[in-house]
Amino acid sequence: MILDGKNLSNKIKEDIKLKIKSYLIKPTLSVIQIGDDEASNIYINSKRKACEEVGINFIHEKFNENTLEQEIINKIIEFNNDNYVNGILIQLPIPKKFDTYKLLNLINKNKDVDGLTDINMGLLFKDNNNLIPCTPHGIIKLLEEYNIDLVGKHAVVVGKSNLVGKPMTILLLQKGATVTVCHSKTKDLGNFTKQADILISAVGKKNLITKDMVKENAVVVDVGMNRVDGKLYGDVDYENVKDIASYITPVPGGVGPMTVAMLLSNVLKNYEKNL
Ligand code: NAP
Repeated sequence: MILDGKNLSNKIKEDIKLKIKSYLIKPTLSVIQIGDDEASNIYINSKRKACEEVGINFIHEKFNENTLEQEIINKIIEFNNDNYVNGILIQLPIPKKFDTYKLLNLINKNKDVDGLTDINMGLLFKDNNNLIPCTPHGIIKLLEEYNIDLVGKHAVVVGKSNLVGKPMTILLLQKGATVTVCHSKTKDLGNFTKQADILISAVGKKNLITKDMVKENAVVVDVGMNRVDGKLYGDVDYENVKDIASYITPVPGGVGPMTVAMLLSNVLKNYEKNL
């Protein structure tokens, strides 16, 4: 059965839109982009479109690669101090000459709608969630929508990035799963993935997860986004794995739309806190 992220994200967006309709002042999301990364341009456009759909104001501040760091810092401070800005995000990755860690941590923790500042990451580790990173949060919402119980289940997360793998692991632990985390140094990946009741792949390699690496009736969540010849693929060999999985996310139409829906929901969450 397909875990339809597109459908659920539409429902979430509809709820958000209805709420925003009743507000006189609309929430605002400010996106900072540095450089002209092609994938970033695509992601920012889909965020803009989603904001427009639900009635969130969208500010896009695009800096070229030669901008002085101080100019970007000034912009983050300006957004932090602007009471009309409810969410700030820096579209990643940014050019290597900039310090991602430093810039991210300048964002006010209540406006950090990607949930990537040290404070919000730390709160997540203490089960005291403030703003949760959008992709793992969206995955949990999707599993909940299909009544997939995580308590006592063996979840295997492939990938341990700060953006996806690590916060995913924490959320699964919070939900009562037993979690194994795999990464590029894991020996015999298939040995671990084959034991998963819930398998989540967040790597960025087409066809990394093949049928022989998946247990019968496993729930398979594919976070990967790999563009090959203009077409989007996940990490999972979908055509073959779908026959043995009990549930599976398609790419596109699975995790991606949920990520955007959670971003909108984080903007609204901070806006409503300040009503
Ligand atoms: P990342 O920072 O590059 O992390 C990739 C992770 O995969 C790392 O932990 C790496 O291990 C691990 N890895 C690499 N090769 C591996 C292998 N052969 N076997 C097992 N693990 C391996 O990427 P990310 O930001 O987490 O994103 C991962 C994928 O998800 C990308 O395709 C990205 O585009 C996609 N993504 C999708 C969404 C969405 O909304 N659908 C959101 C975010 C990201 P090490 O740590 O040991 O290097």
